[in-house]
Amino acid sequence: MEEKNCTSLYGLTPKQIASELSLEKSFQGKQIWRWLAKGVTDFALMTDLPAVLRQKLADEGRKAISSEVIETSPDEVSGAVKLGIRLHDGQVVECVLLVSASGHRTACLSSQVGCAMGCRFCRTGTMKLVRNLDASEIIEQLIHLQNLEGPVSSIVFMGMGEPMANIGEVLRAIEYFHDPDGIALGHRRITISTCGVVPGIRTLARSHVPVKLAVSLVTADQAKRESLMPVSKTFQLGMLKDALMEYQRVYGRRITFECCLMAGVNTSENDARKLAIYCSGLDVIVNLIPFNESSELRFRTPSADELDAFTSDLDRLGVQYTRRFSRGRGVSGACGQLAIKYMIEDDEDDEN
Ligand code: SF4
Repeated sequence: MEEKNCTSLYGLTPKQIASELSLEKSFQGKQIWRWLAKGVTDFALMTDLPAVLRQKLADEGRKAISSEVIETSPDEVSGAVKLGIRLHDGQVVECVLLVSASGHRTACLSSQVGCAMGCRFCRTGTMKLVRNLDASEIIEQLIHLQNLEGPVSSIVFMGMGEPMANIGEVLRAIEYFHDPDGIALGHRRITISTCGVVPGIRTLARSHVPVKLAVSLVTADQAKRESLMPVSKTFQLGMLKDALMEYQRVYGRRITFECCLMAGVNTSENDARKLAIYCSGLDVIVNLIPFNESSELRFRTPSADELDAFTSDLDRLGVQYTRRFSRGRGVSGACGQLAIKYMIEDDEDDEN
């Protein structure tokens, strides 16, 4: 009984909710589904349900949501808010609300507890993978965020974990977010960010779910990328580009390359040249994000002169990029590179 009571109702269809709750009338499953999509998780507040049913669910101690917010960290300078969310098994994930200067509100969601990818410039990468989140645990992050902070206008999968390594559950969550009877977010308002897990990109390209794609490229030098991002040993730059071309052929969407710039690591003229060659044939915009220094990681933020020299090289080579460096340093995010998340948010502003 206890186990059943903590099963989340998020991500279930109305029919599944009716079955899960042993409802006598199947349309009540849809009524509950609608309340849940609005963020109402207390059965007592679902006023179109018969009082008797509400009482029965209360007596059974039935909960609709299986996670809880245990920490809220606002950043007054940027307007960002980070939530720490405890899952049913005690694991904790983070999600972040990002607010742009123009008021655009983006939810940055986690897809895994920890991450197996081991990117050298990322704090989550030092945690290793604990487990994948299921769709309900992804959906509940957004519900908590909206209940506490109000509606969001877009979502990025750029929190803890590699979404392409859990693409099935991520796509289930996206289906929920997109449902016109519920949260009704358009696909172009949803971005999946990946470090380059090729099978996940191919799955996305074949799924008929035309969400936006961001790739944490960092460098277009294969040897350097392998040393910074072990995933690149398995999914080399050539394979990655083939998968990106497939995505772009199918959906015709511009791809974002995120380049976390580290002093003396990936900002040389040769790095710019390799980046320009890699971008050719793709419709991409490169987001330049200076490394956000942390005591646990050995990399340094590039100097202003180093950044200027790098962007001059990109200008000369005709690479399209964005360089917005100042926002988003106030909240320490799951990925350790929260500035990346701010860049995406601002980039989305450009489209709206
Ligand atoms: S940057 Fe992203 S993919 Fe890489 S270790 Fe961190 S969370 Fe995982």
